[in-house]
Amino acid sequence: MKLLKIVGSLLVLMLICISHVQCTSSDIGANLPTLTTDSVVYINPTTVVVGGLLIKAENSVLERGVCYGTSPNPAKTGIKRAINSSNRVFLDTLTGLQPNEKYYVQAYASNSAGFVYSAQVEFLTREAIVSFSFDDGDMEQTNILDSMGVRGTVGFVTTWNWNRDLFKMHLIENEGWEIASHSVSHLKSPETEYKDSKDYLVAQGFKVDGFIYPGGGANDQQVSWASKYYSWARDVVTYNPGYSAYRNLYNLPPFNLYRLKGAQTYNHSLAEFKKIVDSVDKDKGWLIWMIHVNQISNEDLTALIKYIKGKNVDILPIRDAIKHYKEMNVI
Ligand SMILES: [Zn+2]
Repeated sequence: MKLLKIVGSLLVLMLICISHVQCTSSDIGANLPTLTTDSVVYINPTTVVVGGLLIKAENSVLERGVCYGTSPNPAKTGIKRAINSSNRVFLDTLTGLQPNEKYYVQAYASNSAGFVYSAQVEFLTREAIVSFSFDDGDMEQTNILDSMGVRGTVGFVTTWNWNRDLFKMHLIENEGWEIASHSVSHLKSPETEYKDSKDYLVAQGFKVDGFIYPGGGANDQQVSWASKYYSWARDVVTYNPGYSAYRNLYNLPPFNLYRLKGAQTYNHSLAEFKKIVDSVDKDKGWLIWMIHVNQISNEDLTALIKYIKGKNVDILPIRDAIKHYKEMNVI
């Protein structure tokens, strides 16, 4: 675990640290270097760092590095990559990996007596995800997503009759949409806004995991209420047109599940949306659009979805994105 400190400046998403199955002199021959099986794998939003830890070298070490690939036993089947280092810890950054793919890694070292390999570790690479969340029970544009084979999340204010088309809500839930709460009366306090709206939706037969804060800007008390009744809650991030810090608009691990960022679409152009998608794709982050009716035209929404699909970025309801990240051990 000392390695963690060494690369502590990296955003560490996953550390796989195999227990020390040391290649001792008795099983590999007297003069080989001794390599711990601490093949190390760190994944941050854009890179994977791999390497090994050499605990003892009987003779001078000639080469050290990693073998990696998408099949098990990469020492035999994978790509060999030498790491130019004279340190006991040797690390390198892998690039050009396929997204959402399982990789296997083994560290190696050699001296004049031959090669020694660490045990195998595995990791999954990340991909970007985009979610569409419709506030205020807006279902006017759900058919656009439907027609493109995409599903999203809709938050309902449970005392607003105009947004409570129960038949359509059941219809879209059956199609794979996520029904979320957006409070009882569009307020973030008191606690009953969280509890009663969920009780209502559950009583109507919906599966409800999430809460969308009305108006955004939840305080700590409101976050604690949301965490009492829901498994996620989404807030709002606003920005000005032309503002270039796109990174602040989307979620990067470690995720704060009760302050998930929702990027507003109001008053921005399709060109701007595309730049944000480019950015989240590059960072392998999770972008959640916050959409209100008439904030994005049908044409722009259609074009935006086409653009995202063209990038091979997954479009998932918030609940499904969380499930995906849990499967990948990101959450
Ligand atoms: Zn609202």
